[in-house]
Amino acid sequence: MVDGDPIFKSGSVLDYSDYIDQEESETPFTNPNPEGGAGNVMDLTIPLSLKCKYCGATTKSIDNGEIDLHVHLGAGYRKFKVFSCDICGWWEIHLAHNWYRGYEYECGRITHTAILRRFDPCDLSLPVDILSHHLTKHQETIYHIAPRKMEELVQSVLSDFFDCEVSLVGKSGDGGVDLLLLHSDKPTVIQVKRRQNPNSKERVHLIREVLGATLLSGYRRACIVSTAYEYTEPAKKTANSAVESGLLSSFELIDAEAFFRMLNCIVPASTENWHPLLENLKKKWGE
Ligand SMILES: [Zn+2]
Repeated sequence: MVDGDPIFKSGSVLDYSDYIDQEESETPFTNPNPEGGAGNVMDLTIPLSLKCKYCGATTKSIDNGEIDLHVHLGAGYRKFKVFSCDICGWWEIHLAHNWYRGYEYECGRITHTAILRRFDPCDLSLPVDILSHHLTKHQETIYHIAPRKMEELVQSVLSDFFDCEVSLVGKSGDGGVDLLLLHSDKPTVIQVKRRQNPNSKERVHLIREVLGATLLSGYRRACIVSTAYEYTEPAKKTANSAVESGLLSSFELIDAEAFFRMLNCIVPASTENWHPLLENLKKKWGE
């Protein structure tokens, strides 16, 4: 990141999922070089590297290819290069094509350029899918998001992970029922704790509070999802004895590490923002 540049203010959530297109083409009716194939009327060279538009880092091509175009009674090619910045994640896809058929000729270039959107982690309008993607690489951001955003994040992660419905039910200060997970007709009460200190531990009083709230709401399954590092031994013992004594049928304690394992299962870190666009383009060229 570039020091002092407000775009890269420490802790910001950067998103490059949106992009703009730039297109230039030449479509003369007369092939400038009919004897020896299509001659270029515009420069179709794609550079080997370019400067990241946002942080200035040198960005090399990380994927490229050339595809023969099947033109009836003619010939042509299409080539592409993908550039992606290792520092900030910005990307650009360059395409160039060239084909001729007798006296008909066309060549052109298209550039798809990622646009930066920057969110403050505590901004409530931060979309959960952008936050999830960001957290696969920057786990520390979770300690800066708003408690309400943490509830939305847990809702999204658990519903994808268990492939079930999870509804937000809590209002602040209602005594510990934030979410309700509905899986095979067995509702589970979920309490979400967004601790600001990564070294914090969840203690026994939280277990008692959630046990009470679950029983008072008439449910038999409970779960706590916390950004704390761990649960204390008395906390784990109390949760176990709630199940062993038959008060609850299950009581799951999920700490930060376990939560990130779930998040990484549903948002693979390898999903780069430019992948879906390139896949779509390749499908289009295959037609
Ligand atoms: Zn960059």
